[in-house]
Amino acid sequence: MPKLLVALTASSKTATSPGKYSRVRVNEAYVRALQSVGLVPIVIPPSLSPDDARAVIARVSGVVLSGGEDLDPALYGAARHPATQKSKAARDATEVSLVEAARDARCPLLGICRGLQLLNVALGGTLVQDLGMLRPSEIAHALESSRMHRVHGVTVLSGSRLAAATGDLVIEVNSFHHQGVDQLAPSLRATAYAPDGVVEAVETTDDWWTLAVQWHPEELQQDAKPWDRALFQAFAQACEAAAAAHI
Ligand code: MN
Repeated sequence: MPKLLVALTASSKTATSPGKYSRVRVNEAYVRALQSVGLVPIVIPPSLSPDDARAVIARVSGVVLSGGEDLDPALYGAARHPATQKSKAARDATEVSLVEAARDARCPLLGICRGLQLLNVALGGTLVQDLGMLRPSEIAHALESSRMHRVHGVTVLSGSRLAAATGDLVIEVNSFHHQGVDQLAPSLRATAYAPDGVVEAVETTDDWWTLAVQWHPEELQQDAKPWDRALFQAFAQACEAAAAAHI
């Protein structure tokens, strides 16, 4: 069987002065992690219409929602908190369209950080706009300076898709997110929590394979624990199963 293609979402950087160029961009760590499990990532620009998103999903065996900017709180009916970063409407719309197309096609979906938040909001959930201000705890979830370090534990729900993937029910992860799940979307369940109660993973409970984590397993590949690679391996297996079902 030829290698499988998976869509990988990207952000954009708009030129703000002459001589600069506007760019589509995504951290290479995602690309490497997907390649390491035999998948071929196709970078998706953050400017797709709903029709474009359906065209992409029809041609790939999986979709990965990458990390990045805060979502526009209007997407979940909230006023913007001062701590919420500037959002990118075109990226938000692109990724919501990809979620809807993937759900309709039962295309496997892996969400990372913003990807978890996007999945939750696209399916009807809401977010805490700044954990540090609105849910203060002893855990520093927004440790941007230590992307490659494990900073807090996570307890995985036994019997979940995540538990099947990780094999371990207590794992150590990195953490650089300042937002998190508030109300969970009706079709999702939380499958991992930090010690302070912050949701660290979600998944759908029906036959649509989704897995989303609040941490960044792709950044831990140099010092990978079994569960870091296992997430990407589980996604690759889901993509293979979906591809086989469509033959
Ligand atoms: Mn965290």
